[in-house]
Amino acid sequence: MKVTVIGFWHAFPEAGEAASGYLIEEGDYKILIDCGSGVISQLQQYSDLGDIDAVIISHYHNDHVGDIGALHYFRLLQPVIIDAPQQPLTIYGHNEDPAGFDNLSFQGTIPTEDYAPDQPLEIGPFTFTFFKTTHPVPCYAMRVQTETAVLFYSADTGFSTELAHAACGADLMIAESTAYKGGDGASFGHMTSEEAGQMAGLAKVPHLLLTHLPHYGTHDDMIGEAQIECPDTKVEKASSGWNKTLS
Ligand SMILES: [Zn+2]
Repeated sequence: MKVTVIGFWHAFPEAGEAASGYLIEEGDYKILIDCGSGVISQLQQYSDLGDIDAVIISHYHNDHVGDIGALHYFRLLQPVIIDAPQQPLTIYGHNEDPAGFDNLSFQGTIPTEDYAPDQPLEIGPFTFTFFKTTHPVPCYAMRVQTETAVLFYSADTGFSTELAHAACGADLMIAESTAYKGGDGASFGHMTSEEAGQMAGLAKVPHLLLTHLPHYGTHDDMIGEAQIECPDTKVEKASSGWNKTLS
């Protein structure tokens, strides 16, 4: 499973970058996890838009879903601008926020399906398992498994031992780190770098990628703040195009 960071910013994208978006690939199959502001522009550096097989959404805050409209319009115009058959594309989201789920649809351009959070979901070579996070709106973390690798994505959440347990055995944990050590993440349903490190330490994952990064301070400081909490884990911060093949 190849994982590529398309966007990593909290709230809004900085110049030439994107809010939350992660491309996962196995063989020829490509899934976009979350589609925040700026993602559709940045994604084209790593994949043709027409090659994306599925999009799966953790929750309906704009920094995770803001570019779904751009994907609708691409799909609408694709038959005009590309003289080739459209390959199937489906957008998956939970239906605990019906208005948010409805916004995944636009004039039938892309089929949508709601995932049942208590049931595994198989999409191509990937199996998704969902875990509710601690966030002001319904939001789901995802454990993504292939035959050879496991990815855990925290989505947006406050610190949670349940999520740490859900991440056990993952090859890579992508965890949100919206505030620096000593800051207040919990009031907003987010984690600090220290808490992301604690979650990785409890899960005993070999690799932690800090993401959903704030618009202040020096992101490199977060690596050290997290590392103290998980000394046996390799800690990195997300950046545009960061990628790793898990096996
Ligand atoms: Zn959110």
